Amino acid sequence: MQTKSTETTHIPLVITHQRSRLALAEYRLCQKERRLARYKNIVVLTGAGISAESGVSTFRDAGGLWEKHRIEDVATPEAFARNPDLVQDFYNQRRAQLFSVEPHSAHTALGKLEELHDGNVTIVTQNVDNLHERGGSKNIIHMHGELAKVRCTQCSSVFEWLDDCTQETVCPTCGSAPALRPHIVWFGEMPFDMDRIENLLYECDLFVSVGTSGNVYPAAGFVSAVRSYGKAHTIEVNLEPSEGATYFAETRHGLAGELLPGLVNEILD
Ligand SMILES: [Zn+2]
Repeated sequence: MQTKSTETTHIPLVITHQRSRLALAEYRLCQKERRLARYKNIVVLTGAGISAESGVSTFRDAGGLWEKHRIEDVATPEAFARNPDLVQDFYNQRRAQLFSVEPHSAHTALGKLEELHDGNVTIVTQNVDNLHERGGSKNIIHMHGELAKVRCTQCSSVFEWLDDCTQETVCPTCGSAPALRPHIVWFGEMPFDMDRIENLLYECDLFVSVGTSGNVYPAAGFVSAVRSYGKAHTIEVNLEPSEGATYFAETRHGLAGELLPGLVNEILD
């Protein structure tokens, strides 16, 4: 019975160096081809950072709407059961804020990507504002709900809603009141469309995360899921390295409004 030799072959340092240079050149070529390749299925995950550049206050901002309220007082099902007027009023204020903000160049770049790309582009957003819609995107999943919608707790109808909503507001479908609630995923509730999102993450060949802190689950786990499937290139665009930055194959740090138009042009080239 023969045993395999366990001797290691000594490779002179200079050859190792040449090999690594060749590997680097190959890698760069591969990256170039990858950049030019047509991605078929693109998923763009967006978070608070992209909205913040339009001036939307988030619950992490100092001085924002959220600072005057505790999450457990305005953003949980229990809070709504306890003090529905306060919760309705809080979301009425946030809904009214939609009229004072405008989409910026990152939103419009993503709208252009969807319009001009010869493949599928889906925005999966954690944001509840309507800036992606107003920036021209159509294929959007609002995993945390939408400020511009309310839902009936009696008949489950969902309505486009830009006005104030109170406990006296009557459901246009079933006539019940009080019955309408913000169409928002509160803390302790399941995000919307998770099955669809999981399929998209599995199918995608390019995953871009924009303005996401990387510490709010389940979205924070999306990049790990995508990488585990081994099919997609992954890019993080964020003001600073997020908590999950090391999971991404490529990172670009700065304002989304400055970086997205260039990135979209590279994808469309
Ligand atoms: Zn109803």
